[in-house]
Amino acid sequence: MQALFRALPSADACLALLERSFPEAAHDTLLACCRGVLDDLRAAVRERRVTSPEELSLPAISGLLRASAARACAPRLRRVLNGAGVVVHTNLGRSTLAREAQEAVALAARDYCNLEFDLDSGERGSRTALVEGLICELTGAEAALVVNNNAAAVLLMLDTLCKGGEAVLSRGQLVEIGGSFRIPDVMVRSGAILREVGTTNRTHLSDYAEAINEQTRAVLWVHPSNFRVIGFHSAVSPAELAGLAHSRGLPLLEDLGSGSLLDLSPWGLRDEPAVPGVLRSGVDVVTFSGDKVLGGPQAGIIAGKKRFLDAMKKNQLLRALRCGKLTLAALEATLRLYRDPERACRSIPTLRRLTMRCEVLHARAEALLALLAPALGGLAEVRLEDGESRVGGGAFPEQGLPTELVSVRPLEMSAAALRARLLAGDPPLIGRLEHDWFQIDPRTLEDEDFPDVTRVLGEALSPRAASDHTA
Ligand SMILES: *Cc1c(COP(=O)(O)O)cnc(C)c1O
Repeated sequence: MQALFRALPSADACLALLERSFPEAAHDTLLACCRGVLDDLRAAVRERRVTSPEELSLPAISGLLRASAARACAPRLRRVLNGAGVVVHTNLGRSTLAREAQEAVALAARDYCNLEFDLDSGERGSRTALVEGLICELTGAEAALVVNNNAAAVLLMLDTLCKGGEAVLSRGQLVEIGGSFRIPDVMVRSGAILREVGTTNRTHLSDYAEAINEQTRAVLWVHPSNFRVIGFHSAVSPAELAGLAHSRGLPLLEDLGSGSLLDLSPWGLRDEPAVPGVLRSGVDVVTFSGDKVLGGPQAGIIAGKKRFLDAMKKNQLLRALRCGKLTLAALEATLRLYRDPERACRSIPTLRRLTMRCEVLHARAEALLALLAPALGGLAEVRLEDGESRVGGGAFPEQGLPTELVSVRPLEMSAAALRARLLAGDPPLIGRLEHDWFQIDPRTLEDEDFPDVTRVLGEALSPRAASDHTA
């Protein structure tokens, strides 16, 4: 064993090799890679996984060293190909931005801008005023405010309007959204006392009426987002609730979650109230996300009656929840596209994906198949099949969107092994596993992605990749 340890090259020799291959990399980063690889090899010797000195020579371990340095030098946040067919995929960054929004972000990133500077007076301005007018125009609200995300929007709303008092909420709406956002916990944080009414499956207007007392500050309505109660079930609509709340001098607050600005029912996305309709129904303040169905950057939008929004703008908590200039730039550019709904559906990727017609999906699946079939011949079977895409982001939970999947069945490995290799690809390709098939949904890929999809699949299926992996 001592002879094997002595066969290992010195850290300096390893470092010299890496410094030639990675001239731009920081010295300490490369040194850490060398030490890590040498430590792993010593462990392999102790565990008798390595038994010959030749396996430990500098040329023999140079592949390990370079792979370690390449990993250490690569950015951790990377482009991935979303073939999973979940349009608002929270784990993959939810919405990608329209070209107009990308350009606005680049401008705000590169140049100074009037983030908090009033160009009319030459005095200090307000960052919230940048998009407030646009939100009011598109939703019919009197006033609006933008914060870091919808969780922050709910927190600011409750902290401002309900702190120290009670907010009435149906037990059917005590929801947890993915990523551990729990309405009851957010309420505790805000200092509002949750007054639960009704039961999980049924809540009546009288339940709300009986719970209102002199401690009550607001009636709350939370969109159940990621689940639906079916069967013996009843809930009070926001319109009925608004009547009750207003007759008792209380505001009705709604956490809408996804928050579509357009009515998407012509595309089969029903039962999801759009923000303008929510406000027309009598809701006083509504909060929703910027990066779900809206298709913009991560943000929380608060819209509603001026006197409630004025109070939120004065809350010190806003300083901790406000969003940055890159977000505001992307949001403004995205919202501007909504002035022409047809243009919004064409230009905002999330909307374009949600409203993509079956004929288009079919043609695109055919186009991908035509690239894959010759490239993967002999390595996999490839075919088209009917399937469903998902909206994701908690919106329209039980509604699948019909799509056409491109399914790949590897001939020499399992579909699970193919999926694992694709995760190590450059860029990684995310898809769905269905029995022996790896499925790709063209809805969440761009046509320009198809050559990359073809290449990474070819690389992952090639037998050479297999031997690299076992080495
Ligand atoms: C998604 C969602 C949230 C959290 O929104 P973020 O923008 O992710 O903070 C809160 N409430 C509901 C109903 C949601 O659907």
